[in-house]
Amino acid sequence: MDKYDYDLFVIGAGSGGVRAARLAAQLGLKVGVAEEDRPGGTCVLRGCVPKKFMVYASEFSEQVHYAHGFGWTKAEAGPFDWQVFRDTNNAELDRLSQIYTANLVKAGAEVIPAHAAFKDEHHLVLTSKQGGERIVSAKTILIATGGWPFLPQHCPGVLEHGLTSNEMFNLPELPKSLAIVGGGYIAVEFAGVMHGLGVDVTLFYRGQKILRGFDDDVRDHLANEMALRGIKVRTQIDPVALKKTDAGMEISLNDGTTALADQVLYASGRKPKTEGLNLDAIGITPDSHGAIPVDRFSRTTHPHIYAIGDVTNRLNLTPVAIREAIAFVETAFKDNETAYDYENIPTAVFSQPQIGTVGMTEAQAKDAGIAYDVYQTRFRSMKTAFIKGESRIFQKLIVDQKTDVVLGVHIVGGEAGELIQLAGVAVKAQLKKAQWDATCAVHPTAAEELVTLKDKRA
Ligand code: FAD
Repeated sequence: MDKYDYDLFVIGAGSGGVRAARLAAQLGLKVGVAEEDRPGGTCVLRGCVPKKFMVYASEFSEQVHYAHGFGWTKAEAGPFDWQVFRDTNNAELDRLSQIYTANLVKAGAEVIPAHAAFKDEHHLVLTSKQGGERIVSAKTILIATGGWPFLPQHCPGVLEHGLTSNEMFNLPELPKSLAIVGGGYIAVEFAGVMHGLGVDVTLFYRGQKILRGFDDDVRDHLANEMALRGIKVRTQIDPVALKKTDAGMEISLNDGTTALADQVLYASGRKPKTEGLNLDAIGITPDSHGAIPVDRFSRTTHPHIYAIGDVTNRLNLTPVAIREAIAFVETAFKDNETAYDYENIPTAVFSQPQIGTVGMTEAQAKDAGIAYDVYQTRFRSMKTAFIKGESRIFQKLIVDQKTDVVLGVHIVGGEAGELIQLAGVAVKAQLKKAQWDATCAVHPTAAEELVTLKDKRA
């Protein structure tokens, strides 16, 4: 009899855990996966996927606005039936979750619907929803438990009345007005979505500019575009308490004033999910952000216990969790130590308008002491110009003066999320501005500006 029940036991069937379990099972290893919810994880059930469906739903209202300018004089944005959308969305998520389970099973992994916690370094206690317990042993263990939104603990009324992104996909009904607290990507995405669905949206952010960490020009451009669309962006202000009144949620602000909204979404932070894992039993202490510390091969202080994805709080994105899973399988089972390379990861923000970004921001280039040139443009797309709209696309390239390598690309507007995937290839390949320029334009597109930017910003 084998010494352990499993060669690999994975805790969490989200983006990272599922990929790792499948790849390991395909190698012929005995793999178990515990999932306390449904397979799929944040991305499929409470993140990227339902969010993108909401983005699609919300974009139709702007399309109607454009349609009028193009001669569809009777086009109408409404009525929008939230319940129809929500139920279709849930059915689609069920379908996707089942595909995740089926793929795991097809690869030969055993999926166990249970919460997993450590008993010791090689044993886990699995507790089913019905309360049944069993103990399993594994030679190698992968923690892929993801992250979870948190509500500020110190603000009266917030724990009782505040919503997190988790609840946004299953609201019983669409509020007429929504206050969003936070200035990160999840906050601006929900602002665009809810506004597009006809909700009166106000975003409150305590910092000076939304989207900390993004290029400053991108931050300014998006804030202007959001305002142009009718989203109220209030910066340098912090909600300090929430009270339910007959008129709705009363939000007390730190300047002594109050605001009213039907619902309040706190998109102000997420935490790695380590609660309930009983990490004490194996002597692992989360860092100051609550993340499990790992080396560049995703190994914890125990050589046979690894952690990947949001629970390690490195770069909290689905494709990153998946790449970390692939690197983990190479390292742990293929005798090929592999560290994922976090340089130049392209990302999109599905705000309205979208953002696509890869590589260095201007501030990062400056801080790194790099002599750089900036090529940038702000223009109305053909489609917007046609209807005499005000919205503008913003594109910016940061180029190393010495090497001519394009260090960063930042786009706001149009299909920026789609565009940045390809710009990401060029930045990852460290192509020079001269090679971008030598690439023939595709006309008429907005993207062609990226290969025709001639003038350095003064
Ligand atoms: P998860 O996918 O969260 O999976 C962890 C799993 O572990 C969960 O299923 C959980 O139930 C399970 N689990 C936890 N503890 C236990 C336990 N003790 N026992 C058993 N099971 C357990 N990323 C993008 O790349 N693009 C986007 O557009 C994007 N949009 C997002 C929008 C929102 C609103 C949010 C919240 C996130 C978004 N993300 C996006 C981030 C992305 O969802 C995460 O980075 C990704 O899901 C992380 O994968 P993971 O495997 O680390 O964890």
